[in-house]
Amino acid sequence: MPLALSPKIEPILLKDRFDRQITDLRISVTDRCNFKCFYCRTPHGVHFAKRESLLTYEEIERLAGIFVELGVTKVRLTGGEPLLRRNLELLAGKLSALEGLQDLALTTNGFNFHDRAHRFKEAGLTRVTISLDSLKQDRFREITGYPDYDDVLRSIEIAKELKLEPVKVNCVLIRGVNDDEILDFARFAADWDLEVRFIEFMPIDEEEKWTRERVVTGAQIVQTLKAEFDLKPVARETASETAQKFEISSGAGRIGLILPVSEPFCGNCSRARLTADGKIRTCLFSLVEHDVRDRMRAGATDEELKKFLISTILTKEKGHRIGEPDFVSPSRSMSYIGG
Ligand code: SAM
Ligand code: SF4
Repeated sequence: MPLALSPKIEPILLKDRFDRQITDLRISVTDRCNFKCFYCRTPHGVHFAKRESLLTYEEIERLAGIFVELGVTKVRLTGGEPLLRRNLELLAGKLSALEGLQDLALTTNGFNFHDRAHRFKEAGLTRVTISLDSLKQDRFREITGYPDYDDVLRSIEIAKELKLEPVKVNCVLIRGVNDDEILDFARFAADWDLEVRFIEFMPIDEEEKWTRERVVTGAQIVQTLKAEFDLKPVARETASETAQKFEISSGAGRIGLILPVSEPFCGNCSRARLTADGKIRTCLFSLVEHDVRDRMRAGATDEELKKFLISTILTKEKGHRIGEPDFVSPSRSMSYIGG
């Protein structure tokens, strides 16, 4: 008698209307920050979310688990400043244990990562990205409102020692502010053997200081770098990778260019965001948010939450529309949404 073959069950994945699969979840764990980067948040009249409105670690773990069952393989913890959330290492440990998760990363301003890096490594963190917008102390202070970058450098150093690699340094370039430091940052990448990622300034700043003229485009960055370095393009590991990467002539260090304004990469986007207060954002520039926290707190089952996430991802926007006549900036800045 022939064996009855059981039908092959395909896993349900998070796909949008444009056939883009969501594999990358950015989780903001707090909207608070101890820096006041002028291109991100306002120093005036700051209103932080009430503690009870923030997702608990148990809630984040549950939602992340559901996302992973639906095909997410990478999670990045971000904020606001994620290290302001107490015992974040515990959450990192819970998330790294999720079956199916391949990569757990953190984006931080680096103010006290150096003291906690070992604990994060033990908890299963795979990579860290640390932000640093100037190698001049006075300028760093003016941009961030934080006294100096010594802590940030120590954090980068320890991340390297612990091989939380590739260690990446995010630098938002703004014309007239720090665009004279492109070569300094490239030398820094070479000397420290790490990846410096230049990010175009995006119109998602609370103070609305963005103008197109202040954006330093990828073409301008490449032109500046070529005065001193040979740039060897590095193939993208995945189509959805945000950065165009280059090796630089010295052999050590890399440059990454993240060009959402001049060369949008929306067509291959694989990202979704979960805000600290439990809203799903299908694009950094979404004008609508989808409340998953209240559903969860009202007793939704995992199956119900799964269905909700699937239907939410079907509303993912085709692209961000920066530069279109009808473009509207989202009402919340990066520090609220999670960069
Ligand atoms: N506080 C952490 C940090 O600064 O790394 C994590 C959150 S922050 C919102 C994440 C990243 O977003 C940082 O690298 C920051 O420089 C970047 N960012 C914030 N506002 C931006 C803007 N208007 N344009 C481009 N990048 C921005
Ligand atoms: Fe804080 Fe990061 Fe925004 Fe700077 S970029 S204000 S460190 S959230």
